[in-house]
Amino acid sequence: MALKGMFSGRGGFLGSSRGLCWVQALLSLSFALAPAQASFAAAGALPTNSAAAHMSEAQDEAVKLLKQYLQINTTNPPGNETKGAEFLAKILNDNGIEAKLFETAAGRSCVYARLKSTGKKRPIILLNHIDVVPAEAKDWKHAPFGGDEIDGEIWGRGTLDMKGFGIAELEAMLLLKRYGVIDRDIIFLATPDEEIGGTYGAAWFVKNHPELVKDAEYLFNEGSFIDTEDGKPKYWGIAVSEKSVLWLSLTAKGDPGHASMPMPDSSVNRLVRSVNRIVENPPKPSVLAPVREYFKRISPTVGEPLRSAYSNIDESVNKPTFYAEILKDKFKSPMLRNTISPTVLKAGYKTNVIPAEATAELDCRLLPGTNKDEFIANLKDTMKDPTININVLDWVHTDASPYETECFSAISRVAAKELPGVPVVPMVMPWFTDSHWFRDLGIASYGCMPFKIDAAHLATMHGNDERIPTAVYRDGVKLLYQVLDELCSTNPGK
Ligand SMILES: [Zn+2]
Repeated sequence: MALKGMFSGRGGFLGSSRGLCWVQALLSLSFALAPAQASFAAAGALPTNSAAAHMSEAQDEAVKLLKQYLQINTTNPPGNETKGAEFLAKILNDNGIEAKLFETAAGRSCVYARLKSTGKKRPIILLNHIDVVPAEAKDWKHAPFGGDEIDGEIWGRGTLDMKGFGIAELEAMLLLKRYGVIDRDIIFLATPDEEIGGTYGAAWFVKNHPELVKDAEYLFNEGSFIDTEDGKPKYWGIAVSEKSVLWLSLTAKGDPGHASMPMPDSSVNRLVRSVNRIVENPPKPSVLAPVREYFKRISPTVGEPLRSAYSNIDESVNKPTFYAEILKDKFKSPMLRNTISPTVLKAGYKTNVIPAEATAELDCRLLPGTNKDEFIANLKDTMKDPTININVLDWVHTDASPYETECFSAISRVAAKELPGVPVVPMVMPWFTDSHWFRDLGIASYGCMPFKIDAAHLATMHGNDERIPTAVYRDGVKLLYQVLDELCSTNPGK
């Protein structure tokens, strides 16, 4: 290559007193270099000022920050999220992104920061919650708040839910700040209190400061993973919705009496009969569009007869053998129907006394778009005892975000490059997140954690020994950056 030769002959040529002209020569060289850079890139050398060239450093930084963040105990209750919020805000401010704390209650704060862009496209929100669920250290192999890396895994309460993703969002934002030109503002929003419904977190923020977020087009949050088996990614699940939460209490009243003289229609007997009818007559399957798409898109990842069953899911759910099988899959089956779990039973205070009142509590999870009142009316029919009073304890409704969007296509483009053959699929999650507060503002909200997680690791979420393989975590940081680059940058991939 001509260029190269010239440099090696450096001394002679460059040493002359014709300083100025060599500067001009150099300048002309630099423009001449641009195609050279491309050819360097073609030849694999990355432009030094690119995120790609600094990805390994960034992954190191993310791992280091996650370990520090995991050591901050933000167990909810009580939360103490301000400590975590200050940690995140300091990183943002130190990197020239102005971060603001919003105190929502004593010791509890949100962090808000916005990375400005050309503004050609509407912003995206990177949402994460700072709080974690409790962890009993005595039941863990390694300290839940140690932030230790052991045998290639990062251990700690929150690695999966969801301090890991929070730091990955932060790192991707820093990379775009350092090396990118973006057309979409990127909003970083970390909130308290998700694990107990968001009252002192996302709900508070949306209620008190909608002006800071309502212009956003998209939102990324926790929700789903890259489903992985034996280290092999099967599909990248993107949660377009969670199920709505309906908590109910059933109260049966009756005559009290001495238990030596049983009463067939005692409060307890009638309640037990009704709860039994509910358990024996679960809601019928109902296939929503995103769920039909989910099964269609994952069908190539399984063999026959499942492949055909999944690609015709509407018919398959009416086939008793298939339906009995799919009901055993606690991850897939909740996407196909409303569910009811009797969880609390209360009655009586003495073994030999028939109580006047008996109550049961039900955790019902409804598919997006299900009408609450119709659901309760059906339940009443199933119970076949109109004297039993049904009371709504809690109702949190959510709709589904669309999956035919530029955002989904951007994720699919990255997956096609980085995970060839792994489909990107819309999902309806059985568990709940804060995304609904933003869907209510009309923001398309997706649960899209880019981590290759297998069933064994998934089971540690809200359980003991929560951890994430370091390599999986590093990979996720890179994938998230690539998705944001694809979605936000003026020239993605540059
Ligand atoms: Zn969570």
